Amino acid sequence: MAWFLPRLLATIVALTLGGALGVLVGALLKAPAIGALLGAATGVGLVVLRDALHAGRLIRWLRDGLIADAPRDAGLWGELAYRIERALRSREQALAAERQRLGEFLSAIEASPNGVMLLGADDQIAWCSAVAADHLGLDARRDLRQPVTNLVRMPAFVSYLQEGAWREPITLEAPGGRGMLQLAVRGYSDQQKLVITQDVTERLRAEAMRRDFVANVSHEIRTPLTVLAGFVETMASLPLSTAERARVITLMQQQTDRMQVLVADLLQLAQLEGGPRPPADRWTALAPLLQRAAADARPLSAGRHQVEVDAPDGIELAGLEGELLSAVVNLATNAVRYTPAGGHIQLNWRLRADGQGEVEVRDTGIGIAREHLPRLTERFYRVDGSRSRDTGGTGLGLSIVKHVMQRHGGSLEVDSEPGKGSRFRLLLPAGRIRQVTPVGRLDEPASTV
Ligand code: ADP
Repeated sequence: MAWFLPRLLATIVALTLGGALGVLVGALLKAPAIGALLGAATGVGLVVLRDALHAGRLIRWLRDGLIADAPRDAGLWGELAYRIERALRSREQALAAERQRLGEFLSAIEASPNGVMLLGADDQIAWCSAVAADHLGLDARRDLRQPVTNLVRMPAFVSYLQEGAWREPITLEAPGGRGMLQLAVRGYSDQQKLVITQDVTERLRAEAMRRDFVANVSHEIRTPLTVLAGFVETMASLPLSTAERARVITLMQQQTDRMQVLVADLLQLAQLEGGPRPPADRWTALAPLLQRAAADARPLSAGRHQVEVDAPDGIELAGLEGELLSAVVNLATNAVRYTPAGGHIQLNWRLRADGQGEVEVRDTGIGIAREHLPRLTERFYRVDGSRSRDTGGTGLGLSIVKHVMQRHGGSLEVDSEPGKGSRFRLLLPAGRIRQVTPVGRLDEPASTV
């Protein structure tokens, strides 16, 4: 109210001065009363004119969007402009804070691997995250306020949305055959809908793989079991000669061996999947490791192949010796099993220019056609099922090798040509390889390659 008294005074002064001047001028014209009235009216008019000028400036400032500061007048208009400016600025700050919070909230939704879409009345898109737009083949900006039912080319989604009973999510193929999507809808507020989209391609693939795996294991176990059951029945129901009995027992032995190998491989796979990461500071000498793998493969070859090792002394590998040995043995025994008699099998070591180490198992065997190469490490994948089984294979060897290498930060490479032989390479990262001097081997390592 600081403006009130000055303003009252100014009005009284204008009235009084105007009236007094009017009296003087009126006296000259012999009409002092009319002069006083006109003088007072002129005084008040001047006050009103001044107000109109101030009000005009204030209105101009408001109309121009508050770009500059408010007009800095004294008195009532100054006070009014100041109060309006303060109220507007604090409203603006609150709005900016709200906008920032909303932005952060939307960024958090955008960061989710799931897509989110908000639909208003008539299923118009009120907001759509980039992930949801990608899942549904929409443009998050261009398609705003468009009915989603006109844009999404998925009839199952459209009828699900319109059904109104969204207790269970639906799973359907993503537009353009880009995998599988799961969509869930929830209603909120008045006729608003929240649509959540999720890419479930990987999950469904993993579930299918698990199902296949269980089916494969059951099949692999059922086959020898059926054979065994047949032999048991034969022995129980038929009088067999000693020679026949011995033959049946040998065949039964083969089937139980097969089951034992299968169960051992399955257990090893399970251990590899659940086991702790191989230590990076437990060192194993390379040359003896390759010699042992060759020694394991030679009885299987029974002299039908030439099995050779070429590995320098003084190289050590970091990791779990048992796992590394099992990877090399798997490759070496495969080389024997898939190489006809008279073939040559070589176990080599090479240090690559990029520092990686390479254990190569090379054979001159039957080789593998190009189209099979990407699938070799799948569980139970066999190029030739009967040859694999006849030679005691479980179809799990290469998936064990792949797991071992992955756990050691390495990988498995294969080059092969039908009729010309195969080259399987175990690659180990530079950090898991070191060179020790022959003397230093008993003490500390001399250097890491
Ligand atoms: P298996 O027990 O059947 O040998 P693996 O996982 O070890 O299972 O190998 C998968 C398939 O890869 C084999 O069935 C075989 O067809 C092929 N394979 C593996 N090693 C060789 C090789 N050295 N030469 C030719 N084919 C091979």
